[in-house]
This record gives sequence, structure tokens and C-alpha cells, in this order.
Amino acid sequence: MRSECATVSVGKGIAGSGVFAKIAFPAAAVIGQIRGDLFQDERLETEYTFQAAEGYQLEPIAPFRFLNHSCDFNCEFDWLTASHWKGDPESVEEKSCGGLYLSAVRNISPGEELTIDYNWPAEFAIKCQCGAENCRGYVVSMDEIGKINRSS
Ligand SMILES: [Zn+2]
Repeated sequence: MRSECATVSVGKGIAGSGVFAKIAFPAAAVIGQIRGDLFQDERLETEYTFQAAEGYQLEPIAPFRFLNHSCDFNCEFDWLTASHWKGDPESVEEKSCGGLYLSAVRNISPGEELTIDYNWPAEFAIKCQCGAENCRGYVVSMDEIGKINRSS
């Protein structure tokens, strides 16, 4: 698969395609900007969309479209200019220009799969395949995991 970013590549990941580091990233390094379409219509949600901000879904384009969840995640989203565009709810175009970045939460070696915490609510939780020692068992936010344990 074609990579659109010199520092990461897309390959076979934890679940389907995944994003892999091509170089080493130190903790807190900004890996790249998450580009994509930001929209407010929940009917347009796909398996690739993320809850970007209150009421907004973001559908990233490649390569970060393919970020997988891991309970032992090594990356997170950073809203470097979030306060800028969140303050202007009328300007969808301005929101579309992004400001969302992927950054490393620990040192990442070349070849490692880049993962984030999907933080899904319990109602959307699916069984987790991340294989981490601290795996929650489900792709679900830490705050919501109690709801799953109670209902199973
Ligand atoms: Zn897991």
C-alpha cells in the first residue's frame, strides 16, 4: 500500500491495516498531522471515524486512517490548535483545516505499530485483539469498562 508520509508506513496491523513507524520517535514527538474530513452528522460515521471534539466526527485520510487501538497504546491525538477553531462554531471550513496531530506517548522504535486508545463507549465495545499485557479485553474506554463487566 502506498504511504503518504515519509515517516510512517501502512501494513498489516493488529486488526486489518495498521500504521507503522519507519523511524524512531522519542516520547512526545509529533508524528504527523491527522488530515481528513470533519463533520457533524453522526449518520456519516464509519469504522474509520473518530470522535474529534464534542459533536464532531473526523474521518482521517491515509495513513492515519489505519491507526489501530491498543490497550498499551504508544500514541495519542493532540489538539494543538483546538481552542482556535472550537471557538468559532460557524466556520466548518476552518475546522476542516485540522489542528489535530498524532504524537508519541513513549519512545517508539522503527517498525513498531503506532496505536492509540480508541476510548470507545461501552455500547460500541468490541473484543480487543491488541495482545498487550494490560489488555482490557475490549476496545473500550477505561471509564466505561465497568459497564461491560457488569453486563457480561
Ligand atoms: Zn487490548
